[in-house]
Amino acid sequence: MSDNYDEIKEKENSEENPEEEYEKVCFVCRRPESRTKKMITMPGNISICPECMQKAFDSFDQNGAGAGLPLPGNGQAGSLDLSALSNLPGVGFINLADLTGGEREIPKKQKLKKKKEKKEKVPFDRKAIPAPHEIKRMLDEYVVGQEQAKKAISVAVYNHYKRVGSDSGDGVEIEKSNMLLLGPTGSGKTYLVKTLAKLLNVPLAIADATSLTEAGYIGDDIESVVSKLLQAAGNDVEKAEQGIIYIDEIDKIAKKRNSNTRDVSGESVQQELLKMLEGSEVEVPVGSNSKNAMVPMTTVNTNNILFICGGAFPDLEEIIKERLTKESSIGFRAELRDKYDKDENLLCKAEVEDLKKFGMIPEFLGRLPILVSLEALTKDFMVRILKEPKNAILRQYEKLLRMDEVQLVFEEEALESIAEKALERHTGARALRAILEEYMLDIMYEIPKDDNIGRVTITKAYIEKTGGPLIDMRGVMRLGVQA
Ligand code: ADP
Repeated sequence: MSDNYDEIKEKENSEENPEEEYEKVCFVCRRPESRTKKMITMPGNISICPECMQKAFDSFDQNGAGAGLPLPGNGQAGSLDLSALSNLPGVGFINLADLTGGEREIPKKQKLKKKKEKKEKVPFDRKAIPAPHEIKRMLDEYVVGQEQAKKAISVAVYNHYKRVGSDSGDGVEIEKSNMLLLGPTGSGKTYLVKTLAKLLNVPLAIADATSLTEAGYIGDDIESVVSKLLQAAGNDVEKAEQGIIYIDEIDKIAKKRNSNTRDVSGESVQQELLKMLEGSEVEVPVGSNSKNAMVPMTTVNTNNILFICGGAFPDLEEIIKERLTKESSIGFRAELRDKYDKDENLLCKAEVEDLKKFGMIPEFLGRLPILVSLEALTKDFMVRILKEPKNAILRQYEKLLRMDEVQLVFEEEALESIAEKALERHTGARALRAILEEYMLDIMYEIPKDDNIGRVTITKAYIEKTGGPLIDMRGVMRLGVQA
């Protein structure tokens, strides 16, 4: 009851004065007020923490300019009359407001939400996390097939959030369930993670491993990933600390095989990611990817952030094939190789040893204990992706035409033809939208011209460019129904 009352009061206060929700940030050291003593506000809306203010006075002292001045008591915020000091000979003050162009206002996206005061530790409500079968049921509505992957992810996520709420008082600490997703391009790795974050209502940041570089090199440094997550969480550190980070194209930071040159981009990026994957305090700029003097900084603990890495691992299949043939009895090798050559889902047989051979360092793989493989997409799979998900592409086009009171129908054979064309592009399900877009452009352009059109049927001939779509006029349709 009192908790509720506090929350309502807090909400009312923040509604009255939304600025109250944000913290002041020190102009000099860029730390938020929650990490410093109470800020001193100076003309021009500039806040400075007492430590930085003290340092400024100390440097005056050392230079002899203000020797012997009575300094303000530590942390006595707001009790400072700077104008009196500036009258002293040899003491000049720079007006910080002049430097920043008048009244300084930190842009909203760089403001930091105040951490809620920690009341007593609320007992963890395990029922608040959906059970694995419920997570999977939710995923089923959007993601077609990939049964094993959806099951593994549901369990991993469930355990992850149980770990977040568990206390380690009994000495048993649950390990993080960071994941590594293996699957060909366009097989739905990113889509799966995006759907998961949306269903669980947690912030998500997606980064590309190829853009990450070692600190000091040109490119995004590792911390920029956490900074992105903080932005996705609306600069709410607490929310960000329970979010998900997806790092795509992780295979691109594999150690170069058969190379004697020092590999700066791959192995060292893996090394730098290690600490963050396991859980560490990361100092990040707020509302920006670059650390510069004007951007406030804050600390995010990555201990409860779920990291999911994904990659297509193009040559991994060869490594797996080699291992599998070696493992089996001698004599039938040629036959076996043949069998594995035809196996489209070799990635599902991947083991940690194969990934090490591929160039992932053992410590890095150790931080990603859950290995999930996605199946390669077949023609049938593609057709299902076109029509089954809750927000399937076909449903989207149907809805668009329904707004013009036109019914859109796809012949089954037309869908198969689209799927075949998509497979030829080797970009997985991503090609489906591009192909449909090509064919639907003319339809979307022509149909609204004529109010009498009641139904459009996309035929195989139209997709193969040997004919056109079937058009039914409204009157004819009505006649058909009456007959
Ligand atoms: P990846 O990250 O593996 O390269 P994406 O997740 O970007 O592939 O997939 C591309 C698109 O394909 C997604 O946006 C999604 O619309 C579609 N897609 C892929 N797999 C599925 C699936 N199993 N169910 C539904 N849609 C899918």
